[in-house]
Amino acid sequence: MTKTFEIAVFQGDGIGPEIMGPTLELLGQMAQASSAYDLSFTDAPAGAAHYAKTGESLPEHSMETARRADAILLSAMGLPDVRYADGTEISPQIELRKALTLFAGVRPVTVRKGQRTPLNMPADREIDFVLVRESTEGLFHSQGCGEVTKDEARETLLITREISEQLFEFAFTLAKTRKAAGRGPGKVTCVDKANVFRAFAFFREMFDAEAAKHTGIKAEHAYVDATALWMVQKPWDFDVMVTENMFGDILSDLGAGLMGGLGLAPSADIGRDHAVFQPCHGSAPDIAGQGLANPFAMILSAALMLDWLGIKHEISDMRRDGTRLRESVENVVARGQVLTRDLGGSAGTQEAARAVMEETFAA
Ligand code: ATP
Repeated sequence: MTKTFEIAVFQGDGIGPEIMGPTLELLGQMAQASSAYDLSFTDAPAGAAHYAKTGESLPEHSMETARRADAILLSAMGLPDVRYADGTEISPQIELRKALTLFAGVRPVTVRKGQRTPLNMPADREIDFVLVRESTEGLFHSQGCGEVTKDEARETLLITREISEQLFEFAFTLAKTRKAAGRGPGKVTCVDKANVFRAFAFFREMFDAEAAKHTGIKAEHAYVDATALWMVQKPWDFDVMVTENMFGDILSDLGAGLMGGLGLAPSADIGRDHAVFQPCHGSAPDIAGQGLANPFAMILSAALMLDWLGIKHEISDMRRDGTRLRESVENVVARGQVLTRDLGGSAGTQEAARAVMEETFAA
């Protein structure tokens, strides 16, 4: 029996719609070829251009579409010259994260053999780890409410038991799923600064309590500064990393750098009931409308969505298609013949997407 999934689609700003178009086409074709699942896409208007037109950045009916959907696909959002009256950027993705309590920010980092990377990697090495960034509290807790006087500024970090316990459970389950799929040794690294801050000792204590429930998975600790060093020196040693919001914000860009840039960095923000899948990069207004944007991070985010839905609803076809889509992008990137300009090539968005389409349906 075919199960149909409702997908809320936020086309976004700048290059957003340009990379969303081919991604929906790929997803549509994959769903059409499967008898196990179908996808129904509903547009949810939001973002900076929408705000400039209507005075609303995330209209209630778009929020409702997101709430009702089985999953949310979101392209890049925000434009530097469209701002709220207080000068802050339009970022409905952050509002969604908060409103839907999407506490687990999943940032996969992969570098396959043949893929260009700024690292001088031994030829037999590959990188394949996932950074899980807590995405609703930490140092972002006081975002927009920090206190600034003439001589002092204060922001507050918040770590709660409620969110941390769910976060660690998510990280250990992820390590188990990856191990079962042959994608890692089954290890979770808690990245913190427990040697300096009591809040992180508290964070680590809860991590250890969760680790005790997962005897088949190795648990280890690392300080955030050492982690930054090791991500450059021996990134192949990591499997699943889990960390606080601000640390994760910084380390995930380092991860994107290892892969060769933001154009290859996908993400998922996952909560108990909802999940948003979007590329890590912004709306790149400098190249918008020129057909030059790299669609790979968006396509890889869609692959994460198929995998997540497949696991949640126990539909093996969806998991298989998620893997197929991810591997198609990885193969195209590793071969290096069709790359967009940000990756050192000369292909445009359509040509790059077509290469993934051909790779996906080659067999
Ligand atoms: P934000 O703060 O919204 O995340 P940002 O300031 O980090 O955005 P981006 O919009 O991500 O900036 O763009 C940074 C640079 O990377 C720009 O020069 C942009 O053209 C380039 N870039 C970002 N995404 C892509 C992409 N998908 N394809 C090609 N170039 C990209």
